[in-house]
Amino acid sequence: MAEEHERIVSTIEADQLSSSLRRIVGADHVLDAHSDLTVYECDAFVIEKHCPSVAVFPKTTAEVAAVVKLCNVHGVPFVPRGAGTSLSGGGLPVGGGVMIVLTRMREISEVNLRDRYAIVEPGVVNAHLNKRLTGTGFHYAPDPSSQGACTIGGNVSTNAGGPHTLKYGVTVNHVLGLELVTADGEIMQVGGPVDGGPGPDLVGIIVGGEGTLGIVTKIWVRLTRNPENVRTMLGVFDSVDDATHAISAIIGAGIIPAALEMMDQGILVAVEEAFHFGFPLDAEAILLIEVDGLEVGLDAQRDRVTEICRQNRAREVRFAADAKQRLQLWKCRKQAFGAIGRLSPSYCTQDGVVPRSKLPHILQRIRAIGAKHDIRIVNVFHAGDGNLHPILLFDERHPEQIKRVLAASGEILSECLACGGSVTGEHGIGLEKISFMNRMFTEDDLDVMERLREALNPKGILSPGKLLPTAGACGMEQVHPGRRAAL
Ligand SMILES: Cc1cc2nc3c(=O)[nH]c(=O)nc-3n(C[C@H](O)[C@H](O)[C@H](O)COP(=O)(O)OP(=O)(O)OC[C@H]3O[C@@H](n4cnc5c(N)ncnc54)[C@H](O)[C@@H]3O)c2cc1C
Repeated sequence: MAEEHERIVSTIEADQLSSSLRRIVGADHVLDAHSDLTVYECDAFVIEKHCPSVAVFPKTTAEVAAVVKLCNVHGVPFVPRGAGTSLSGGGLPVGGGVMIVLTRMREISEVNLRDRYAIVEPGVVNAHLNKRLTGTGFHYAPDPSSQGACTIGGNVSTNAGGPHTLKYGVTVNHVLGLELVTADGEIMQVGGPVDGGPGPDLVGIIVGGEGTLGIVTKIWVRLTRNPENVRTMLGVFDSVDDATHAISAIIGAGIIPAALEMMDQGILVAVEEAFHFGFPLDAEAILLIEVDGLEVGLDAQRDRVTEICRQNRAREVRFAADAKQRLQLWKCRKQAFGAIGRLSPSYCTQDGVVPRSKLPHILQRIRAIGAKHDIRIVNVFHAGDGNLHPILLFDERHPEQIKRVLAASGEILSECLACGGSVTGEHGIGLEKISFMNRMFTEDDLDVMERLREALNPKGILSPGKLLPTAGACGMEQVHPGRRAAL
């Protein structure tokens, strides 16, 4: 770590950097003791670890801009971080430098129901916005399963999805405008409270930029009217194949459920142990299906979905009896990852996408790849949009298990590409999947992305080592494996 420290903090001594930062944000809002910084050495992608040289917690846009300007003057790399729930190592400070943690910027400064938008700071936790909207008849639609912890700034940067984005669209469809601090410390606004506007879609460019194109400091989000009603169902299947065929059949029948999620037996057992919902533990797979909209017609949709499940050999289809049971079902799904601790000490979640019709094939391949590498894999995922989350279970204290996890992950993602899919549906490329970029895109494609990043991040010191294969500052032009867990 000392080596990283020396390499990065090149034109300023570490203690001078810390004291300059303290002058900007206040003495209590800078961490530079190694014991404190280890908390920030990884996010939810636990395989790779990079410790920042210093972590700073600004409260205002002006403070963010001042921190960025200081970093620029001294050539110190910096990386924004929200709640640190990234599953692709997006917020890791590759090579050290300053981590700008935005969790103190958590004001919801305006809720405008007449014009259907809210203005939030980046550190607002996703679920807190919806809590604030309770009773208004509106909600903020993107609902990542991590919504109890992740921030809207992080969601914007990863273009997060969630169970209900099957029908409602991912984060980019719900962001109207952004204020950001550019890589050289200027404050700019793109978009605003109203939709559209002339010229290129700058908001669309920044959303999904994984923190490489600017630091988001304010967000105008779209508010969506709550559906009049919902019907929530649980399809129980004796085979994963049947469940995956049912998924394609539902969408093929022209029904777009609000959500269509799958859990396989491996995860079901852990979820049941944790939440005691009453899931059938002998089922090979369950589908959690929700249709919503105007009350009139909902029963017909529910009946049609039920019929399709039965045609695909569902053993039974259960219905959430009331709002309480529905909430309990969603709690089980959204907190499924939390139950994994019952299965293993560490896990690595993959995020491939395949065309829905390839789900039976890819799930068989995932089983075979797990067996080949002797890695247990369980699945809980956004089945409706073909977005897989195979969860590879391991113990990070055993280096050879990590090697097998990485090999199996690589094979799964390669298979997604072979199916015509993608190596990420919502978690982003981050640090983890950079080596796949030149398999997904041509050199010309990557060159365009590179030029865009250079235009907005010319020195490359904002979030180096992320997203693009040539994402380097400080000579880091290659994928830069940091300290691997246990290695
Ligand atoms: C249990 C679990 C379930 C999950 N479920 C989902 C899911 O259903 N859907 C989904 O999409 N993801 C999911 N994720 C992944 C993760 O929660 C999302 O990627 C989320 O958007 C990250 O938000 P965060 O606040 O934790 O950001 P961080 O992890 O802190 O950062 C993520 C990226 O955003 C950048 N960033 C953060 N804040 C800013 C900012 N203000 N300006 C510019 N860049 C910034 C960081 O540099 C990094 O590249 C899940 C993760 C876990 C652990």
